Amino acid sequence: MNSKLFSELGLSPALLKAVDRLGYEKAAPIQAEAIPMIMSGSDVVGQSQTGSGKTAAFGIPAVELVDPHVGFVQVIILCPTRELAVQVAEEIFKLSAFKRGVQSVPIYGGQSYNHQIRALQHGAQIVIGTPGRVLDHMERGTLVLDRVKLVVLDEADEMLNMGFRDDIERILKTVPTERQFICFSATMAKAIMELIKQFGRNPKTIRLEHKTLTVPTVEQTYYEIRNRSKTEALTRLIDHHDLKLGVIFCNTKRTVDELTNDLVARGYSADRIHGDMSQAQRERVMTKFRNSGLEFLIATDVAARGIDVEKIEAVFNYDLPWDEEDYVHRIGRTGRVGRSGRAFSLVAGRDIYKLQSIERYTGTKVTREQLPTLDEVEEKRTNLFFDKIHGALQTGDFERESPVVDRLLELGFSSTDIACAVIHELRKDDVRYLKDRITEPSQGLALAQARSKRPRKADVQNSKNNR
Ligand code: ADP
Ligand code: MG
Repeated sequence: MNSKLFSELGLSPALLKAVDRLGYEKAAPIQAEAIPMIMSGSDVVGQSQTGSGKTAAFGIPAVELVDPHVGFVQVIILCPTRELAVQVAEEIFKLSAFKRGVQSVPIYGGQSYNHQIRALQHGAQIVIGTPGRVLDHMERGTLVLDRVKLVVLDEADEMLNMGFRDDIERILKTVPTERQFICFSATMAKAIMELIKQFGRNPKTIRLEHKTLTVPTVEQTYYEIRNRSKTEALTRLIDHHDLKLGVIFCNTKRTVDELTNDLVARGYSADRIHGDMSQAQRERVMTKFRNSGLEFLIATDVAARGIDVEKIEAVFNYDLPWDEEDYVHRIGRTGRVGRSGRAFSLVAGRDIYKLQSIERYTGTKVTREQLPTLDEVEEKRTNLFFDKIHGALQTGDFERESPVVDRLLELGFSSTDIACAVIHELRKDDVRYLKDRITEPSQGLALAQARSKRPRKADVQNSKNNR
């Protein structure tokens, strides 16, 4: 597909300026195809992989077609989760920054009605919401959709999977029949085709990469776990690859809770997100993760749906998902728009069959790798440390430290001893280097010996507090 500039898509100056401000240079393929189609008034069904820029593909035309001089709802965008609604609302907000008079509001469960009602009364033309809360507002009469021009279903497959079908149908039956209907999804399940048949009017279909749904820049590997703690395997991989920002997927809320506690106890900066948490809790965690105040986010599929955080280095399948489509969505959290990323899957016992069906479905091969041994992890981390010091020596930018060294030399210490002491001080705070590791039973003896050389619990505790 030829890439196109946004200036070739017939956008108004206000939208071009907003896109420029967002830092987008070229239109993503889905955007290059969908934007002109939607702006010409067609119903559109779009399928493309996660992270391919679907939000702007419908967000740009949505902002374009709003009449800013009138204060009623003209666009309704339905999303499966609160997080996604908030994220889409943020992008719409940025896209409408230079089009005066355009207002948008996210409405979702868990947030007070009053706040949302005020925004609606204020004349918002674009509403981004979860189906349940949208219906609530319609029933209360606080959201009137009788002059809607455009309906968008984002992550449509997921909304159907979550049981929103009836809600969506009720909403679609309320809006005027003249409206435009847009449906976006990373996958095209049968239920979606039915919905489109029922509500679309000669929809145009865009399908990108129908052969493979996987994000190509993501390097996928799996590790067979036998009689070994999954958590141990996970932390070894984290340490070995020196990962600083990742999402770890589990299949149940309970596993999410347990793993989070485990990782925090081992000194990692980690927190959880799942459906049992209050809206406020989830938002707090997400904000922290976005602002790099948190290294690892442990999540269930639903809670993490569509979440887009820049620079996620790796996605872990702590549990392989039940559903192949979830795998595609999960690994799409990394390698966003051209960045490279890694996906690690832990495979225990019969999971191997699940993995094979994922490979068939995505048309890609997931490479089998051996879990690094503790020694390999240690060696790798020592090498990383070595490289860091070596780099510092080469740049030579440490003049300020020489008085301290001079004083120590005057006290009669050798330069080797001084350097070793400094390194020791630096590394003892690295929980990933000197930590009290748990390991598989077969290595129990070796570990007991190794442990006697490791710091006491109190030191580990201290180093945790420093993180
Ligand atoms: P999808 O909904 O297809 O999973 P998103 O709309 O969430 O994808 O976009 C993924 C990421 O790509 C976001 O961080 C978004 O800001 C960025 N993005 C979208 N369009 C472009 C573009 N044309 N150029 C660069 N980055 C883009
Ligand atoms: Mg999306």
